[in-house]
Amino acid sequence: MHGEPGDGDRTAELAQRYSAVRTRLDEAESAAGRAAGSVRLMVVTKFFPAADVRRLLTLGVRTFGESREPEAGRKVDELAPELAGLAEPATFDMIGSVQTKKAKSIAGWADTVHSVDRTKVLDALSRATLAALEDGRRTSTLGVLLQVSLDGDPHRGGVPADELPQLAEDAAGAEGIDLRGLMVIAPVGGDPDRWMSRAQEIASAFRDTHPGAIELSAGMSGDLEQAVRHGSTCVRVGTAIMGARPLLSQ
Ligand SMILES: *Cc1c(COP(=O)(O)O)cnc(C)c1O
Repeated sequence: MHGEPGDGDRTAELAQRYSAVRTRLDEAESAAGRAAGSVRLMVVTKFFPAADVRRLLTLGVRTFGESREPEAGRKVDELAPELAGLAEPATFDMIGSVQTKKAKSIAGWADTVHSVDRTKVLDALSRATLAALEDGRRTSTLGVLLQVSLDGDPHRGGVPADELPQLAEDAAGAEGIDLRGLMVIAPVGGDPDRWMSRAQEIASAFRDTHPGAIELSAGMSGDLEQAVRHGSTCVRVGTAIMGARPLLSQ
């Protein structure tokens, strides 16, 4: 709630870190010869309370990423009164791996899901979106980004690049779904610049067959510069703005 001891300190801390990341992003855009403001800055608020989202809203942040259900849905519910009163609406995207049994709740709050890597998940989201449109829990189609694995290791999620064309075709034909592009997470270790260059190649080939799906969600706290250099349209920044997540999340 407002007025707790330390409330202003936390707001000031978030303001300072958000502004520092904003500056990093401005400089990365400029260094890459890209237009100012061409890359969206999403603040990843997973594991942080609704009170922090509220503070970020007062700082003008409107683009949020969440990765866990039901944590995310609860937060959005708790903030419903504030969200309804915003002149410029806020959006919450799902960036974490999706369990099919959570599709129904995700379709209730997510603008876009960045982490679709299987037809089963796609089908569940399609059905859940149609149901949510029908019962008035949402008013627009669900944005979908297909998560591509850059190293082919299935453990971290993501479709292997050679299976992307089939999944993309399924997504393009799925009812209630708006295929908007791709998402990647650079594997730990190795040169982030090389991974992001690979992501850019995959995205470029993908757009030949899906010219409307122009989003490339790439880059986090540690590699946003490399991602912007290689065509990211949305960076997802958690730690550099929110601080370290609780150990439980690692
Ligand atoms: C947690 C998370 C992020 C944010 O990572 P940071 O390194 O804390 O900036 C970005 N993308 C995904 C998919 C995440 O799960």
